[in-house]
Amino acid sequence: MALGAGFVRVSTGSQDEASQVKVIEADAAERGIAIVKWFRLHGYSASHGTQEPALREVIADIAHGDYSTLMVTESSRLDRREDLDAQAEILLAIRSAGGDIISVGEPQFGRTDFAGRIVTLVAQHANAEKSKTVKRETYRGIMMIRDNRAHHGPLPAFWATEGVRYAKRAWCQDPAAVVDMYERVASGESLSSVGRAYDRYPQSVKNVIRFDANHTGVIECSYTHEGQTETWAHEVEPVVESALWWRANKVLDANLTESRANKGGRPVAWPANWISGILDCPECAGKLFLQAGLTPARDARTGKPRVPRPRTPKLRCGGHAKQRLACGEFKGIDAQPIIDVLTGMFASDTTDILAFQRVAGNAHELDELHAQLRKIQARLSATEDDEELDTLVAERKAIKARIEGHVIVPDRFDYAPTGQTVAQMWYAGDDTVKRGMARAVKASWGMVLAEDDGQWGIAVGTASHNGPAEARGIVDLGNGLCFRR
Ligand SMILES: [Zn+2]
Repeated sequence: MALGAGFVRVSTGSQDEASQVKVIEADAAERGIAIVKWFRLHGYSASHGTQEPALREVIADIAHGDYSTLMVTESSRLDRREDLDAQAEILLAIRSAGGDIISVGEPQFGRTDFAGRIVTLVAQHANAEKSKTVKRETYRGIMMIRDNRAHHGPLPAFWATEGVRYAKRAWCQDPAAVVDMYERVASGESLSSVGRAYDRYPQSVKNVIRFDANHTGVIECSYTHEGQTETWAHEVEPVVESALWWRANKVLDANLTESRANKGGRPVAWPANWISGILDCPECAGKLFLQAGLTPARDARTGKPRVPRPRTPKLRCGGHAKQRLACGEFKGIDAQPIIDVLTGMFASDTTDILAFQRVAGNAHELDELHAQLRKIQARLSATEDDEELDTLVAERKAIKARIEGHVIVPDRFDYAPTGQTVAQMWYAGDDTVKRGMARAVKASWGMVLAEDDGQWGIAVGTASHNGPAEARGIVDLGNGLCFRR
């Protein structure tokens, strides 16, 4: 049980003393504090003369360890001057002696009120002083490290330090692993794949690759103290050849590791990737995606490095939008014949691309005239030049006349040739355009992967259930463009 003292003060002759004692006793019991000493001060008028020796006694008792808490009914009982500075002073003295004041009527006393803020400030100041001291001591230590040209600072994976304080040397614990990491990354293996091999996060792999000292044999150490940065070089045994370091870092710079390529979203890097996600899986009706790129930099089974080679592009089931899991039923087919068939279909199509546009009507001309008029009016109010004024007035007159004489022909819109054919659009278009065209044909006419005599091909026109020959009607390309046969 914690020990405490009660502090009551009453004016002479009042009944207040007993009630204050009662309040303190009840609160102390609730808090599990045993009151071992009472201070009873009588007479408000002689406050200073009576309470200062009492408080000095309290502080001495607390410092002595007789009790740790001083309990009052209200903080003003401690000093009737109702001077917050004085209260803060008392609170501070008691706190610094290792004790605390509990004011029954003010649960927040010494915590959120002014006196409490002072205490907090003082405590913060003390903490700041302490941390300054710590920093000064650290700085002295760092200067010793610098003078020893020893190591200070973070190290990547596979690196550690040894030696006594202020003279630690950095060294590579597993040079073979570091070299292997560089070789894997240099050959384009993904950071996550390298990470898996060494039970590291991809970021740790990156940190190893980025670590200059791996090839320079020098770690640039630095320490900043009060705005002054000290740097020194710590020499280590280099681990990799500069050429390999450079190649691996070049791959990182260019974001060329596999993990960065086409992770979700629309793939952009491979030729003919417009076909990705267009065709349906014949087995599960999921989407077929183009798998291309390079073979892995190392054998999946034996782990031996291999020279990455371009894959034969395949169309493989990528499942449905959310699940993105191959159904496993459709084993995938060579993509090139399918790409060739579709390319041939679009590239030989001389059908006109049509655009939904105004084919009759002149309402827009009237709008243009009104706009010209507004422009002239704005310039009229701005110019100071007499000659320009004359010109503007003349123009204004002319335009007004045209507006008055304008005979409106109602607008009519229809599809009209843009001057471009399907084939031209196909050749001129990038992957996005080609994808849009393929998707539009599929949506309008139907376009499925069909097997015939063990050969996979494309059947267009399946939407009409009448076979490919019935590929008719409008193909809506979006943006008001279409073509029709
Ligand atoms: Zn499937």
